[in-house]
Amino acid sequence: MLVTYRYKLKPTRAQYARLAKLCEGQRQLYNAALQERIESYKVAKRNASLKGRDKPIASRMENGKLIPGDFTTLRGAPISYMDQCKSLTEIRHADIPDVGDVPPNMGRWTLKGVDAAFSGLFQRMKAGKAAGFPRYRAKSRWRSFGFAEFSGITLKADKLRFKGIDGALRINLHRPIPDGAKIKSAQFTRYDRAWYVTLVIDTPVTEWHPNTGSSIGIDVGVENLATLSNGEVFANARPRSQRERQLRIAQRALARCKRTSHRRQQVRRKLARIHQRIGNARTTHLHQVSANIVRRFEVIAVEDLQLKNLSRSAKGTLAEPGTNVAAKSGLNRSLLDAAPGRLVSMLRYKAERAGGELRMVDPCNTSQDCSFCGTKVPKKLTARQHNCSCGANLHRDHNAARNILARAVQGP
Ligand SMILES: [Zn+2]
Repeated sequence: MLVTYRYKLKPTRAQYARLAKLCEGQRQLYNAALQERIESYKVAKRNASLKGRDKPIASRMENGKLIPGDFTTLRGAPISYMDQCKSLTEIRHADIPDVGDVPPNMGRWTLKGVDAAFSGLFQRMKAGKAAGFPRYRAKSRWRSFGFAEFSGITLKADKLRFKGIDGALRINLHRPIPDGAKIKSAQFTRYDRAWYVTLVIDTPVTEWHPNTGSSIGIDVGVENLATLSNGEVFANARPRSQRERQLRIAQRALARCKRTSHRRQQVRRKLARIHQRIGNARTTHLHQVSANIVRRFEVIAVEDLQLKNLSRSAKGTLAEPGTNVAAKSGLNRSLLDAAPGRLVSMLRYKAERAGGELRMVDPCNTSQDCSFCGTKVPKKLTARQHNCSCGANLHRDHNAARNILARAVQGP
């Protein structure tokens, strides 16, 4: 199964400068490739009525000189990811600063990004949502480059090596790569002033769970992150709320800064650091809670809530704008802050790796039905307690978690 590990890099001063340069080179490649795609779409459309097919001519090398792509005679399909990959091999030999002299794999990672931006656009158009055309990236909106496959780069102990960087690039190997695991791809990202590498790893699955036969139902929510069917409650680490004040002060300071001032850059950096700390604290908490649950229970049941839909419902689509947008976006903010969706995905991969299982159950009426006698007890969202005529009296989320477990174990 695939998991991702993130490590902090420990570059030398020279390597640090080089990383920034590589990143900038890939940004330029991204923008050039994006322009090529856009141009070729226009031409393909204009020439749509012409008969016959003609292959697009992508940028290429002739006698050591770069010839830009020519689309004026283009018929049939516009230029594709594959076409661009081919011409990339040729461009690489040209003397363009910051584009040549890097592993071909790195360029493919960037071109894949362009391709993904376009397929995302078409998907959104098909679904009738706001299209959101792929954008050229300014320096401030580009901070990653990577390797589409793990070739042309090696990791030995805590040292990464690849063409484009001098010497070994040391990483802080705070956790070892598991035995028998294979690295599939690598992405380098700058957060504030530090560089990190994210490795996608194909790791073997443990076949047996340490607690065979154990099971638990979980109600994942907003008030509390997770309520278990045995009554345990995991609270939200609302790191955003905690740092809200810090955030507000920094944001106000930023608003007061002159637009191009040095001070503004400093404040912006400070704001970025606060955001980063919020993100780190949130992620750590989710990892701890999910690991705790997965370690103890083999079968884990959650509601199939499609949180994404819940979260997107506020804005709606172009054709059908959402209703009650402000109220829902308030709920969304707390949903996003508590990140129940991320908890579920962490539970899924952690359970799989430990030899356990995550079961999704039908969410219909889990909080209305009594988990002791089965009677339906209608209640509003504001009613936090479940009181039934059979004598059951417990928190509504606890009641829901018991129903979720029952559905996972007995079937629907
Ligand atoms: Zn009851």
